[in-house]
Amino acid sequence: MNLQSPVKGLPLIGESRERALLKLGLKTLKDLLYFYPRRYIDLSMPAPITKLKLGEKAVLKGKLANIKAVRSPRKRMYIVEADLYTADGQISCIWFNQPYLLRQLKVLGEVVIYGYISVSNHKRVMQPILTLPAKILSVKPIIPVYPETQGITSKIIEGLIVRSLSLTEEVLDPIPKDILERSNLVDLQTALKWVHAPKSLEEARTAKRRLAFQELFILALHAHTARTEWESEAGIKMAFDPKWVQDFLKTLSFKITQGQRQSAWEIIKDMRENKPMHRLLNGDVGSGKTVVAAMAAITAIKNNYQVALMAPTQILAEQHAERLQNVLQPFGINVEIYTGYKKGKIEGAHLIVGTHALISDAAHFQNLGLIIIDEQHRFGVRQRQALKDKNNGLSPHLLSLTATPIPRTLALAVAGELDISVLKDKPPGLVSVKTKLVQTEERPKMEEFVQKHLSKGEQAFVVVPTIEKKEVEEDNSRLFDINEKKSVDEEYERLIKVFPEFKIEKMHGKMKARDKLEIMARFQKGEIDLLVSTSVIEVGVDIQNATMILIEDADMFGLAQLHQFRGRVGRGQAQAYCFLFINHFNPDGFKRLKLMEETDDGFKLAEEDLHTRGPGQLFGVMQSGYGDLQMASLTDVDLMQTARDEAVKLIKVDPALNLHPLLKDRMMEFERTEHLE
Ligand code: ADP
Ligand code: MG
Repeated sequence: MNLQSPVKGLPLIGESRERALLKLGLKTLKDLLYFYPRRYIDLSMPAPITKLKLGEKAVLKGKLANIKAVRSPRKRMYIVEADLYTADGQISCIWFNQPYLLRQLKVLGEVVIYGYISVSNHKRVMQPILTLPAKILSVKPIIPVYPETQGITSKIIEGLIVRSLSLTEEVLDPIPKDILERSNLVDLQTALKWVHAPKSLEEARTAKRRLAFQELFILALHAHTARTEWESEAGIKMAFDPKWVQDFLKTLSFKITQGQRQSAWEIIKDMRENKPMHRLLNGDVGSGKTVVAAMAAITAIKNNYQVALMAPTQILAEQHAERLQNVLQPFGINVEIYTGYKKGKIEGAHLIVGTHALISDAAHFQNLGLIIIDEQHRFGVRQRQALKDKNNGLSPHLLSLTATPIPRTLALAVAGELDISVLKDKPPGLVSVKTKLVQTEERPKMEEFVQKHLSKGEQAFVVVPTIEKKEVEEDNSRLFDINEKKSVDEEYERLIKVFPEFKIEKMHGKMKARDKLEIMARFQKGEIDLLVSTSVIEVGVDIQNATMILIEDADMFGLAQLHQFRGRVGRGQAQAYCFLFINHFNPDGFKRLKLMEETDDGFKLAEEDLHTRGPGQLFGVMQSGYGDLQMASLTDVDLMQTARDEAVKLIKVDPALNLHPLLKDRMMEFERTEHLE
């Protein structure tokens, strides 16, 4: 047996368990070793009876007495009952449908019990999750809890991992010893043992910190190597005359904000360097990123270079092209569009606005000096290379625009790779969107409101989480329909009945791009009153007359994403509204969504997502490749900073990682998973 051995060689692993393990991504013993517990149950600190809270889980220690079996009167369920006598009192415990327990409990002696405290007449432990002999406390006081899937339990996974733990000696630590010492971290073997089988919560914490460090360190190494490569290419050194942008700014009907001025200056400074710019402009929806991008574009064009602006969808590309044409034509700037459907002439154009077709097609540029990417978060090394190859070998400057708020820690993580400018202030005079949480009983009132506004000729978006209603797989899952979510089809059918006098259409991600485009165009022209869709309307489109957005099962979405949805309305003069529907009892969701009512600050909402839902959500929105982080908490600024400092130091002395082959391997592994996306 070694780290590469398949899990199916382990005892008790039949075909169905093997399938379940595969679902969790566990193929080899090595995978098992790196499959971390989600949390721990600490059995070493039993709770006093007086401190028990209803509805919460607790650990109790004591002796069982009065153990007996009964049958529930109506349901014919087999029930084992017992009283647990602890140091400070007594509580009854109940087990359902486990007849074999009757004998087992009788011989257990002192026990630890872990389960929910519930009540009927008096407090009791209902269907304990764990019932173990108390002597476990001296051998295994902390129980790891692993992510489960159908067909395999945390307990079985734990058993398998314990077997693979004997192989930790084979694991080689990629992090150099001096770094471990400076940062006060344990070695990898110890960390793996402690994360799976800690003797105390302290050991578990120490292990987690070490494993988190490793992830952040590799991330930072990756970011800094990427930067070193990118910067080693010769860039295009541009000239700058303030008059160019001043003339443009004079034609606008508004004054730019301090943030816009500052960001534009940071960008232009980069473009005057002889290394390629790689900058992200981060500003909330409606913060006015386009004007800043236009100033950068004008600068490049005045230097006789072409500029490409890439939008994520055809609709957005057309919208940008039209607007930029309007404001830039007076300066003799020629704007062309280039998408899968409309291929303008690149040769001779100053500004080419397009979609991904710019890269995937053999779009040839003569002298592309600046690429601007709007709302698209993934732009990798390969795409950059492809563009460069079709550009006489010139490395253009790169400016990405994103409305996804990037919290400080995340900024630190990517900082190696990119520079970031932030638009903090929003232009004055924007009507803010009124947001309201709606519970089931308030729906009729809400629909009356919507009806009234639709009658005035305003329009509304309806966002639902899924496309089709899912077939219910098993009969008994009907009992737990808490997971049922509204679908586009279903909601469309329902709304037709609620608002028979209005024109309603539906749209979703599986439709052809052309069909989506047509629907959006009709919506824009006002031919559709109410548009039901999945999250496809998420990015950038501007429909000035849309004043309402209704989001169904809003608790399914992250706050940052909801904030982006909300940004789809309020683009015109009229007051706009965002209604968040919660269709199932979900107190946590309700509490979380309350923040949407309270703040319009996208950064604050993203920070909250990070705390309550972890980085996955945020990364989902960013579509960037950091979803791999298992242990690293992006709220741990200090650890991130340490990892980054150490990475920079190491790259300085060993840029190609030739002295650190194990690290090089890990990096390559990381990059492989990145590129597979
Ligand atoms: P986003 O950052 O979401 O891309 P846009 O660039 O589309 O935002 O700008 C949103 C709206 O605000 C546009 O109609 C734009 O003309 C307007 N705008 C931009 N900057 C200012 C400003 N400084 N003052 C007033 N309005 C502005
Ligand atoms: Mg925009």
